[in-house]
Amino acid sequence: MKRAKKILALILAMAMAACTLTACGSSTDASVGETEDAAVEEEAASETAGGVITFGTNAEFPPFEFVTANGVIGEFDGIDMAIAKQIAEENGMTAEIENMEFDSLLVALQNGQIDAVIAGMTITEERAEAVDFSVPYYTATQVMIVKEDSDIASAADMADKKICVIQGYTGEVCVSEMGYAYESFKKGTEAVMELVNGKCDVVVIDSATAAKYVSDNEGLKIVEDPDAFESEEYAIAVQKGNTELLDMINAAIETKLADGTISALAVQYTEAASEE
Ligand code: GLN
Repeated sequence: MKRAKKILALILAMAMAACTLTACGSSTDASVGETEDAAVEEEAASETAGGVITFGTNAEFPPFEFVTANGVIGEFDGIDMAIAKQIAEENGMTAEIENMEFDSLLVALQNGQIDAVIAGMTITEERAEAVDFSVPYYTATQVMIVKEDSDIASAADMADKKICVIQGYTGEVCVSEMGYAYESFKKGTEAVMELVNGKCDVVVIDSATAAKYVSDNEGLKIVEDPDAFESEEYAIAVQKGNTELLDMINAAIETKLADGTISALAVQYTEAASEE
């Protein structure tokens, strides 16, 4: 029943056509500057024509991307990894993954080190100034993970609590815009361990990833506050002006949303997560 509910929630989340340009305003990626280098763009475009699309990700974000023994692309698995592989293969290409810190993804994209970013990345106005986003493929929201006996029932209850976020995620942006002090971690698992060990009171992170952490760890629950956290939309990023790749990605996403492939992947990877 619990699983059925979760799956239903996921499907509903994807069906929501909310088109807000992010959650809590703009992102804090100070590192994303304005690199408008035509030569770099040329290089990225010709690489994709060579038969390989190099996707950058941060494989610390289950069920979208994580490292496992036998993933869909080498050691990488998850909803995003399956989507990346299908986009490449349906266009007669191969998908390769470069795993890096979330904070480094957009810079690597601007430098031409990778062709695209697929990382459960929320479209934000600030990011959209630096890169081009595809059509959205998934709707999520920030939620709070707390201990089962926590008295936190809304975002405002975090005011006098110790808050953990993950560096560069939209959750960090939300908490900082609320004006609360927080500690940031490099990985979701590290923040959740702090919570499990009683060193922090609440972790703010994306909904589907929160569900995975709660199912993996005893004694945790999710608290939602839709008034405080707006819906967010995940999309694939390409270099500004790389319309060839963007058109290919958009066509693939539109087909996969319409024929149910993406919802099926979300169900598949959520079930896999809760059976572990
Ligand atoms: N959706 C969040 C963001 O874009 C987190 C993404 C991620 O950690 N992969 O910031």
